[in-house]
Amino acid sequence: MKQLFISDLHLDESAPAITEFFFLFLKHIAPEADRLFVLGDFFEAWIGDDEQTPLQIEVANRLAALANQGTEIFLMHGNRDFLIGHQFAEQCGAKLLDDPIVIDINGRKALISHGDYLCIDDKEYMKFRGFARSSAWQEQVLSRPLADRKKMAEQMRQLSMAKNQQKAAEIMDVNQEEVKKALCEHGVDLMIHGHTHRPMVHTVELDDKSAQRIVLGDWHDSTNYILAEDSSIDLIHLNKSDLN
Ligand code: MN
Repeated sequence: MKQLFISDLHLDESAPAITEFFFLFLKHIAPEADRLFVLGDFFEAWIGDDEQTPLQIEVANRLAALANQGTEIFLMHGNRDFLIGHQFAEQCGAKLLDDPIVIDINGRKALISHGDYLCIDDKEYMKFRGFARSSAWQEQVLSRPLADRKKMAEQMRQLSMAKNQQKAAEIMDVNQEEVKKALCEHGVDLMIHGHTHRPMVHTVELDDKSAQRIVLGDWHDSTNYILAEDSSIDLIHLNKSDLN
């Protein structure tokens, strides 16, 4: 089984080069895979499945075509696109996954996540995450007119940018103890996540064994994906020239 993982594309009308790169990835790399996992922050912002921008429709159509060719597609929420609903997932021919979730990677159990739930040192963000992920808050927000939601999303984005500039880099990274706790709780020795935009393969020393934490990067500065096939799991850096 061949499984692909990507994260943090932050697709947006203002960054057409990333969208173009993603479509090349869908054309040249993804069709060979049995499964494609998108681990959150697929879109820069999401204010409801009813928005249906041309970009969203184009992405959904291309994913649905991939699904029709036999690649199973899974979407997970990020901290920017956590309002993606079942309607859009269905439009993409994809399934929405809980975060975190344990999956099988060729016989090995792996915990996959967007990763933001591990950033517990950012207390302010964790507080926001708590209510923003509640169904009561989401229902209330989604019941507002689209124009209101657009305004609200823009305000939230600017507030979060201003706040993040004041935060130390380590505060916005995962908490190492929380990583160990998650690995132990789920009984796995492999974790894959995104969110921090720090692509890297880490070794995590647990009491009784070594585990691996593989971090996907965003697609802004560089482009990467994880290919899991047979017993190998590789973080692969992708150049546009590889796809022509
Ligand atoms: Mn994120």
